[in-house]
Amino acid sequence: MFTAFLIKYAEIGIKGKNRYLFEDALVHQIKFALKKCEGKFLIHKSQGRIHVDAQGDFDYDETIEHLQKVFGISGISPVVYVEDEGFEKLCDRVVSYIADVYPDRNKTFKVHSRRARKDYAKESMEINADMGEAILNAYPEMSVDVHNPDIMLNIEIREKIYIYSETIPGPGGMPVGTGGKAMLLLSGGIDSPVAGYMIAKRGVKIDAVYFHAPPYTSERAKQKVVDLAKVVSAYAGPVWLHVINFTDIQLYIYEKCPHEELTIIMRRYMMRIAEHIAKETHCLGLITGESIGQVASQTMHSLIATNEVCELPVYRPLIGFDKNEIVDISQKIDAFETSIQPYEDCCTIFVAKHPVTKPNVNIIRRHERNLEERIEELVQTALDTKELIVAE
Ligand code: ATP
Ligand code: MG
Repeated sequence: MFTAFLIKYAEIGIKGKNRYLFEDALVHQIKFALKKCEGKFLIHKSQGRIHVDAQGDFDYDETIEHLQKVFGISGISPVVYVEDEGFEKLCDRVVSYIADVYPDRNKTFKVHSRRARKDYAKESMEINADMGEAILNAYPEMSVDVHNPDIMLNIEIREKIYIYSETIPGPGGMPVGTGGKAMLLLSGGIDSPVAGYMIAKRGVKIDAVYFHAPPYTSERAKQKVVDLAKVVSAYAGPVWLHVINFTDIQLYIYEKCPHEELTIIMRRYMMRIAEHIAKETHCLGLITGESIGQVASQTMHSLIATNEVCELPVYRPLIGFDKNEIVDISQKIDAFETSIQPYEDCCTIFVAKHPVTKPNVNIIRRHERNLEERIEELVQTALDTKELIVAE
């Protein structure tokens, strides 16, 4: 029965010129999200709201599901449009609307009408009162509550007349694209897709880099990362995923550096390479899935060591989260089932039995000098041979 949706968004901080940038980005993201849905939609903005009008058949549940992934939306109201065929006809339509939407009518209601066109025969107060009466006549079990009604029945008199009463919550946040772009270090784990999701929620477009170590990590492990990039893209729009062949760098570090420092030194090279690509692609920061103390390479001491090789800010949205809190979000965003597939990760292959938990940066730097001879060339080769996959 619904043929359209009214999209509501929080208006804080989007006054003046920012407002239309915000709205345009939101329209753009809605278009992207609905491309994957059955049916055609006309999306347009009008008077501080965005309208999504279905053109013919569409799948209601699927459409809602996709709209609920568009950051910047605070609420989605399914709407029925009716032609203006006089007030009595309108009351009939509203009465049958209530029958369709509320099988249980032991409820209180309030009619809230707005006249966007002043040539309509009745004023708002009159519409509210007369329609209220028509509803009570049709459904004696219902009653009016003007302060705290169960059902707020909105009637908007425009070219057509809009009837709506339900608001489905949106995901909140800011439309992706209003906050610049950042480079996500995306592994096949649970944490990094959640980290990307959280930064995208604040309006930031996401590019990603994955460090692949064939033959130690399989094609299937890489495909899992591509799948996770697709999960992120359902919220963030197309994700440009850069795949770096990291094998030779890892083997070289393994050969030249103390094994308990392998992970830290490897992570420092990941950050350096990610930052290099980030700068080339106009990203304004890096994102990782790190959380204090989760593993040896994520103690505060280790974070000093990985952080110091970067100039760009490193965003770590999970820094204060426990694993179970991260898992909750991972499940909510439909990443979890993919993340727990058992494929090897490049970090786990060369991992030492007793990695340092309090690395000393000066010592790490000294040991990195063991790599002087070939590391620049290896990094350059890794950059030259990188593969780009657009996940959407
Ligand atoms: P995740 O669940 O995200 O894999 P993790 O708990 O396994 O995280 P680490 O392996 O220490 O933690 O990695 C910390 C962060 O470093 C990850 O969240 C991710 O941002 C980045 N990272 C680790 N391995 C890779 C990789 N192979 N490619 C890209 N980024 C990586
Ligand atoms: Mg990992």
